[in-house]
Amino acid sequence: MKIYNSATRKKEEFAPIEEGKVRMYVCGPTVYDNIHIGNARTFISFDVIRRWLIASGYEVTFAQNLTDVDDKIINRANEQGRTAAEVAEEFSEKFIGIMRAANVMDPDIRPRATKEIGPMIGMIKSLIEQGHAYAAENGDVYFSVRSDPSYGEVSGRKIDDLMVGARIEENEDKRDPLDFALWKAAKPGEPEWPSPWGKGRPGWHTECAAMVHRYLGTPIDIHGGGSDLAFPHHENECAQASCCWHEGFANTWMHTGMLLVDGEKMSKSLGNFFTLEEVLEKHSAAALRLLMLQTHYRSPLDFSWERLEGAENSLERIATCVENLVWAANHATGEADAERAAALIAAAERASAEFEEAMNDDFNTASAVAAYFQLVTEANTYLDEVAGAADPEACFACSAGIAGAFAILGVKLREPKEELPVGLLGVAGGLCGYTGDSVDDAAEAILAARAEARAAKNWELADAIRDQLRDMGLVIEDTAAGSRLKRA
Ligand SMILES: [Zn+2]
Repeated sequence: MKIYNSATRKKEEFAPIEEGKVRMYVCGPTVYDNIHIGNARTFISFDVIRRWLIASGYEVTFAQNLTDVDDKIINRANEQGRTAAEVAEEFSEKFIGIMRAANVMDPDIRPRATKEIGPMIGMIKSLIEQGHAYAAENGDVYFSVRSDPSYGEVSGRKIDDLMVGARIEENEDKRDPLDFALWKAAKPGEPEWPSPWGKGRPGWHTECAAMVHRYLGTPIDIHGGGSDLAFPHHENECAQASCCWHEGFANTWMHTGMLLVDGEKMSKSLGNFFTLEEVLEKHSAAALRLLMLQTHYRSPLDFSWERLEGAENSLERIATCVENLVWAANHATGEADAERAAALIAAAERASAEFEEAMNDDFNTASAVAAYFQLVTEANTYLDEVAGAADPEACFACSAGIAGAFAILGVKLREPKEELPVGLLGVAGGLCGYTGDSVDDAAEAILAARAEARAAKNWELADAIRDQLRDMGLVIEDTAAGSRLKRA
């Protein structure tokens, strides 16, 4: 399996630290608002990556934090006249709920910043003792960026270039403009915790470093997040952890690309800003995921309602194909053409191999999905051509392959239409004197009665049968392999 490591800017052969196990961490949200679909892209991408690692046989331990203390939360709380803890609690719960609605698996470990103050203070103390951090007059503690010789390696930046771009802040407490806060002295009314440097709260970059170390142990195999986090957040996380524990921090850094809406950057002022909740009110989580999978996770993803509608249609096409294959296998009549059946089985095997190869090539979901779109097309052609004489083994191999691949990606195909209702027994009895107890046979008898009525141009009877079925919520579908009854 090859993974693109953003720190080395190369695709590398993935070799976990401990054989068969993967420890991964993905930065979670700051819980002050509903997440937007750009955030959702990151979390869905890493969910797919995690699922593929699990499907490949790795025992994956996945940790994701909730940043539940931050300026944004404090500002929101002040705007609304609530406490920061209330705001954080509300949006933590909303985040957990909407991730589940999006079929994103819960992390194995979900630490919250406010519950990790002790380990963070421990890390800061150690950094001060080792000369990598200093307490300023104002009660803040800063990390000394120039004390870390490898600073810049995660995001590919050089310290001197950073200086050129650095905002010259009127902050006399910092020894160097590049230094960043590990601990912030509390202002009146803000959440605060006691520390050796006075009352205050941890800086954002501090929490992930401390949590990774506490819950996964450093170094970890994979650290991920949106590309906007590479600098300064990930760079700063890495600097603290490597200077504190000298074990390295993350072997592979993975960053997801941006999400655009109709080709433009999403922003509230452009009116093209959507929360995940808004999208899932209108469309299925499976369609959103399928849309996202059709672009590689590192590339910019273009979201539009039209594309989402297209993904919804693709999903329907896939689910219908799976259903038709199963139906054709269960209702096969006549001798199947062995050569055609072998060709379909070969197509299913080819799709599976292409899928695996694509996923092992830095999680190339676009190609992986395309392999199965192709198989759906081939399966549909097969069903059309063989009409009723489908080969059950080939149909099952194909349907299982398609359903299995989408299940691995976390794309839930709609459930097959339910079993036919028992009430059909009575209808079949009334229409054609059927006396058995098999609902399937009753359905066949009704379809035969309808075919007979149509052949005799008895439209009144044919329509009456159709109406009676419709009252039961059923429709007749005429397919190449014959007619069948389905729930509407
Ligand atoms: Zn982080």
